[in-house]
Amino acid sequence: MGLTDSKYDIVIIGSGLGGLCSAYTLSKEGYKVCVLEKNRQLGGSLQIFSRDKVIFDTGIHYIGGLSEGQNLNRYFKYFGLMDKLKLKQMDMDGFDIVTFPNDPIEYKHAQGYDNFIRSLSEQFPGEKENIESYCNKMREICSFFPLYNLEAGSKDLLAAKFLEIDTKVYIESITNNKKLQNVLAGTNPLYAGEANKTPLYVHALVVNTYIESAWKCLDGGAQIAKHLSDAIKKMGGEIHNYCEAAKFNFSGSDIKNVELTDGRTIGGKTFISNCDLSKTMDMIEPGHIRQAYRHRIQSIQNTTSSFILYIVLKKGTLPYFNHNKYHYDIDDVWDAINYDEDTWPKGYAMFPQYSSKNPGYTDSLIVMGYMKYSEMEAWADVINIIPNKVNSRGESYEEFKERKSQLLFKTLFAHMPHLKGNVESYYSSTPLTYRDYIGSRDGTLYGIAKDFRDPLKTFISPKTKVPNLLLTGQNLNLHGVLGVTVSSVVTCSELLGQEYLIKKIAEAS
Ligand SMILES: Cc1cc2nc3c(=O)[nH]c(=O)nc-3n(C[C@H](O)[C@H](O)[C@H](O)COP(=O)(O)OP(=O)(O)OC[C@H]3O[C@@H](n4cnc5c(N)ncnc54)[C@H](O)[C@@H]3O)c2cc1C
Repeated sequence: MGLTDSKYDIVIIGSGLGGLCSAYTLSKEGYKVCVLEKNRQLGGSLQIFSRDKVIFDTGIHYIGGLSEGQNLNRYFKYFGLMDKLKLKQMDMDGFDIVTFPNDPIEYKHAQGYDNFIRSLSEQFPGEKENIESYCNKMREICSFFPLYNLEAGSKDLLAAKFLEIDTKVYIESITNNKKLQNVLAGTNPLYAGEANKTPLYVHALVVNTYIESAWKCLDGGAQIAKHLSDAIKKMGGEIHNYCEAAKFNFSGSDIKNVELTDGRTIGGKTFISNCDLSKTMDMIEPGHIRQAYRHRIQSIQNTTSSFILYIVLKKGTLPYFNHNKYHYDIDDVWDAINYDEDTWPKGYAMFPQYSSKNPGYTDSLIVMGYMKYSEMEAWADVINIIPNKVNSRGESYEEFKERKSQLLFKTLFAHMPHLKGNVESYYSSTPLTYRDYIGSRDGTLYGIAKDFRDPLKTFISPKTKVPNLLLTGQNLNLHGVLGVTVSSVVTCSELLGQEYLIKKIAEAS
């Protein structure tokens, strides 16, 4: 029986981490699962690409919580990943370094809460109590999210009040030291943080995982997608690439099948969308969901996008440094996201890549600056995905990319002049690259932007108004490897029961 006429228990649209983790769990539980992916490569933001024999990650630069006994380590044991992944732990005393103009000090985020407190207190004498109180708050908030501790059930989040706390305001409340405020918030590109918007729980769940432990995937994060998809297939699941879902066809109030852009239809009992929320709504024709629900989902703003420079270095010229750098040319790190033509870039995040082929040296760097989708207007009509939809955006787009690359290089070299002679070649991506490869509407970095002023609006349930359509992925829980892994558990719990599933996961770890 071919793909077209099969009827599956579960049809998952999108092979991002959320789609693959859901497929793994449900296959393991005996469901007949089919994953449909529009691209050639599986994995969504786990995808890698190669230039001049160097592998670049597109959306996984480091992962937290992977030490023995920590949350992602336990989840990954359930997914059969822990003994397969090639990992390298980052510097214990400074996995992330934050720097500022006219200040030679490298401010360090260290691994382990005690180490984090010790290291920052050395750099900020007199602030130890405030740093401790910040760390206590981070841990307290994380304890309100049971699934982050592999526990079933849900606590009364609204009663906890911190859903309604603005991250910037909270950080300003614990210390008057402006530099320390900037250092604590300095890794906010990890969640595309916005002043007067990003809730404290988002900051806490993200920084906590890295403070617990921070790891790089050797030779790229695509290994996660590879191991998961191999396991899914071994358990009898099917994964089909070059299958772009176009719309859902209904029988009564339920989805009967999903129709691909090439006209094929794939039938199933339950459908799980791992795609952009707004695009998922577009796949449901009017009349099958209430306009108010569609409007609520489609009116949620996404996090901003990015311009990324992928730098191939001359072999053996730059000794490997085992930390990321977050550099700002401004006095307030929250302001990096608000730029105009004259002020871009206000800073950057830099991720050195570790290659097992060239140990001891860094053969490539990834440098990321914020970029708004609105800058893409002139070329937004052109879809470009290698190898299935290869369209040129023309010379003006190439000129734009080159101009932005040079601006980012200028900022980079001003801060790290020794890099100047080490560049072999470079490539870049824009918000359109992410829009096309991931299938979002605007190249968003991390999906919907959570908002402390209206926390419930940005809390997305895995259940939709269509009885047999569930959601998974970064929009419904939190982005990132840990956030999305947990989101797959939230989704699969709708079918398996949360207590049952958490017990299974805990037993495996
Ligand atoms: C630049 C960048 C850097 C990041 N860095 C980190 C990091 O260092 N650490 C970390 O933990 N997280 C990081 N993240 C976040 C993390 O990568 C994502 O949160 C996570 O991978 C998203 O998983 P997802 O399941 O939501 O699926 P996505 O990755 O969003 O994938 C969705 C999939 O659905 C497919 N699809 C879409 N539409 C259709 C359709 N119509 N038919 C069929 N298939 C479709 C897409 O092709 C894609 O494969 C980063 C993200 C970005 C963009």
